[in-house]
Amino acid sequence: MTAMARWTATIGMARRALRPVDPRFAAALERRWAELPASARTPGQVLGRHAVGCEGTHGVFPKCNLACTPCYHSRDANQVRVDGGHTISQVRAQMRLLDQVRGPRAHAQLIGGEVSLLDPDDHAATLAVMRAHGREPMSFTHGDFDYDYLARLALGPDGRPRLGRLSFAAHFDSLMFGRRGIPRPPDEASLNPYRERFAAMFARLRREHGVRSFLAHNMTVTPANLSQVAAVIRDCRAMGYGMFSFQPAAFVGDDRRWHEDYRDVTGDQVWAQIEAGAGTRLDYHLFEHGDTRCNRAAYGFWAGDRWFPVLDGADRRDLAVRDAFLEYFGPVSFTGTPPALLAARLAVITARHPRVLALAVGWAARTIRRAGPLRLLTHRIRPVSYVMHQFMDAADVRPAWDLMQRGEVSADPRVRATQERLAACHYAMAHPENGTLVPACVQHCVLDPAENRALRVLLPLSRTRPDHEAPGQEAPGQEAPGQDEPDAEAGAPGGPREPAGRAPGDGR
Ligand code: SF4
Repeated sequence: MTAMARWTATIGMARRALRPVDPRFAAALERRWAELPASARTPGQVLGRHAVGCEGTHGVFPKCNLACTPCYHSRDANQVRVDGGHTISQVRAQMRLLDQVRGPRAHAQLIGGEVSLLDPDDHAATLAVMRAHGREPMSFTHGDFDYDYLARLALGPDGRPRLGRLSFAAHFDSLMFGRRGIPRPPDEASLNPYRERFAAMFARLRREHGVRSFLAHNMTVTPANLSQVAAVIRDCRAMGYGMFSFQPAAFVGDDRRWHEDYRDVTGDQVWAQIEAGAGTRLDYHLFEHGDTRCNRAAYGFWAGDRWFPVLDGADRRDLAVRDAFLEYFGPVSFTGTPPALLAARLAVITARHPRVLALAVGWAARTIRRAGPLRLLTHRIRPVSYVMHQFMDAADVRPAWDLMQRGEVSADPRVRATQERLAACHYAMAHPENGTLVPACVQHCVLDPAENRALRVLLPLSRTRPDHEAPGQEAPGQEAPGQDEPDAEAGAPGGPREPAGRAPGDGR
């Protein structure tokens, strides 16, 4: 290659790298927007304008070693052996399809049963597969593992970091049975030391090895713990979690573990509790993720003992900032882009649309004024977002999905509402065997039972403890107390329990 050819090639590469918008990502956004029902094409809609939505794995490690009610897994899930080879190959196939159908960049949840039952090397290899397909992975856990597991996940055999950044969603609530040290939590507050311990492991990993992390906290809400949501937010705000996600329980999964009337808890009640904990109103229309009956989100930061939103939905100038962001920066893929490259791309766009500079300066001045310069100077700023994701009942999803498969719209308002929500679904799962994507509600309500029955045959439980099993974890075939005996849970103090690592839409 001549010097001139090399120079031309270098210039071409630099041009492509600085191209603010990846055409495949832009095309994926356009498709997503076109698929949305009219009811979801709101000014604050993020789907199709800045993101294609969240993704999750299924059938890759259904087993969990805590016991919860309700549990969204079908009753066969705990009879399936955890098998790293199966996990990696299935995740690869699912990610490949997501990459083809939904474009090159997205957040994806490594979710199923309990992720820490995977051998750390298999877990790391799975995350690498997800990243190779342009997915920013988040591992879903009940959080009941030790620092040793985390270090073995993050570090290679040579003791050096093999993963520069980890994302975990940890599920903690008083509806979970079998956690070491607190098998039957009496209330949410009693779990706070465990929440703190989990987050502290990641701070130590950063300190000792420079591995960065993002942590989300998940919690299922039923009539039994609804009134404790606000206190969880207040007590845990500075532990290191960047997101708190709450899931009102639904009638999904193993019906032996349904012990309350979950319909007694509404999304509005849960959101009101979140607002009480944050100490302010949370505007979930500023940024919408699909249908607001499914998802609500509010983005902001704590400065001392007060939480402030990044944008004030009551201020027209902030709405203009939101609109400009979606218009100019919306098609830029933030996920997985190195910070320096992202900054360069944003600078290119700003140069093309200088009005964003004035908008940004005005926004910064208003935010500083709202929070107070002194407060901002004297307190640590902690970005924390609040999310609610409300699954639907299997009894509603099954008929709605059947009709949608036939291209029919239900005359029943309840089923029609379910269809609208499914059509705007934010949370997809891939089926490489037939090239389709389905909403996670459909996966759990319709497809999981047969899938787990088949997996139970493919991967039967072993009677021996594998060498790689982490200390304190149950060997396959040696269930945690009550795990497959849901009746044993019914009379436990603290009321019904809920599953770890199965809450969706939480890791955006
Ligand atoms: S998984 Fe279900 S509840 Fe969640 S966004 Fe999709 S349709 Fe809505």
